Amino acid sequence: MSILMMKFGGTSVGTPAAMAQAGEIVSREAKNWDHVVVVVSALSGVTDMLIAGARSAETGNKERYQEIADTIRTRHREMAAKLITDPAEREALERTIDSYLSEFSRLCESVYVLRELTPRVLDGIVSFGERLSARLLAAFLREQGLRSEAVDATELIVTDGTFQNAVPLVDPTRARVADRLGPSLKKGVVPVVTGFIGATEDGIPTTLGRGGSDYTAAILGEMLDSDAVWIFTDVDGVMTADPRIVPDAHVIPDISYAEVGELAYFGAKVLHPRAIRPVIDRGIPVWVKNTFNPDAPGTRIVRSPQNTDGTVKAVTMIDDLTMINVRGRGMIGVPGIAGRTFSAVARANANVLMISQASSEQSICFAVPTESAPAVVASLEEELAHELARRDIDSIWAQNDLVIITAVGAGVRDTPGVDGRIFSALGKARINVLAIAQGSSECSVSLVVEATDGIAAVRQIHKEVINNGK
Ligand code: ADP
Ligand code: ASP
Ligand code: MG
Repeated sequence: MSILMMKFGGTSVGTPAAMAQAGEIVSREAKNWDHVVVVVSALSGVTDMLIAGARSAETGNKERYQEIADTIRTRHREMAAKLITDPAEREALERTIDSYLSEFSRLCESVYVLRELTPRVLDGIVSFGERLSARLLAAFLREQGLRSEAVDATELIVTDGTFQNAVPLVDPTRARVADRLGPSLKKGVVPVVTGFIGATEDGIPTTLGRGGSDYTAAILGEMLDSDAVWIFTDVDGVMTADPRIVPDAHVIPDISYAEVGELAYFGAKVLHPRAIRPVIDRGIPVWVKNTFNPDAPGTRIVRSPQNTDGTVKAVTMIDDLTMINVRGRGMIGVPGIAGRTFSAVARANANVLMISQASSEQSICFAVPTESAPAVVASLEEELAHELARRDIDSIWAQNDLVIITAVGAGVRDTPGVDGRIFSALGKARINVLAIAQGSSECSVSLVVEATDGIAAVRQIHKEVINNGK
């Protein structure tokens, strides 16, 4: 029995033409596989609009969220009018669209009254994007003659209560997926599952982090023991660099889980950073394909691709970073400073993206998103107040406006000469490297440069190291 898991991103369903194209791809694959399960994102831009609506309510701007509700309603209604011809189907869909948007407005109304937007309420509010798109796509698939139904992942993906960035709980999720999707699949139904969202054990909606629909697809792919996960997006596959930064970036035909994990972690938006983990154990192949060019081969992501020769396959950038330096002569030999430093960082809820090779034993240096830097510094000052007072630590300082550039490829760390080529590429362009990072795996090297050098650094590494100067 063969099962294909397919995920369509926001742009892949963002216009009537795109959604029609996605629907055709599903119809075609439904003939090639015993079972097909679809995961869908909100129409492009809708999640951002829902968030903007909620935030405007919080700041007391009633007109803005009402306008947003109208825009989203009109956009979905127009899609329904273009794609769904059956009058009963269309009417039912319109009723659903209207009722979801009334619910959105009501939630915003309560945020407006309280002037408070909690992460929990925000997750409830953003869940409407995927709930709407899944209804539209399922209706369109029925229109194409398939048996299809929309399924809210709040019924499938059980998570902890970390709103905005929830962690799925494996056992209850597996049980729900089997109970809820098993019978549908047996009946030959194509489920269209909402990406990005889940719910706590008590049924409170949560989200898996921005871009989380890829993660939903990987989780369901693993739970259903699917034969493959196909991620449909708006580019031909995973590329050697962000094509918006490097116009001659090209598609990587084959890449390993480890490499793509590094790429996603260090900023390549094409896949959610957590989307690979669920498929690794079973070795389920993941393909990244283009909805608008479905016959192109795309990128195949597997455990051990052929070409693992230590060449740099891709280069990525994460921006808006701050380096925090904890420095002082008295730190030498004082046990536990590093541990206390990172505990303090963790208490500030900051994500440490990299820890740099310290230039001496007298400093600890790491990068965090700039938005969390003030909280990190405050937390460190509190934790290390005693050492600061005694001058064991001279300073805790933050350097803003930095980016991390990461070169990814199996074995780059151990292959002699790769670092040298990266540095000489940057040297040629007179780009100053502020720190070198210890990445989390063997297949990447990260550098910190000033934000103003970021794009040039990516282009330079792409040209000189990936394209060998061509
Ligand atoms: P979706 O809505 O389908 O999930 P995303 O916008 O999240 O799509 O991700 C796809 C986008 O990721 C591409 O349009 C591209 O601009 C960007 N991107 C950044 N880095 C890469 C890369 N290395 N390879 C491919 N795409 C990349
Ligand atoms: N719609 C969500 C977002 O914009 C999830 C996704 O697109 O994967 O972040
Ligand atoms: Mg995405």
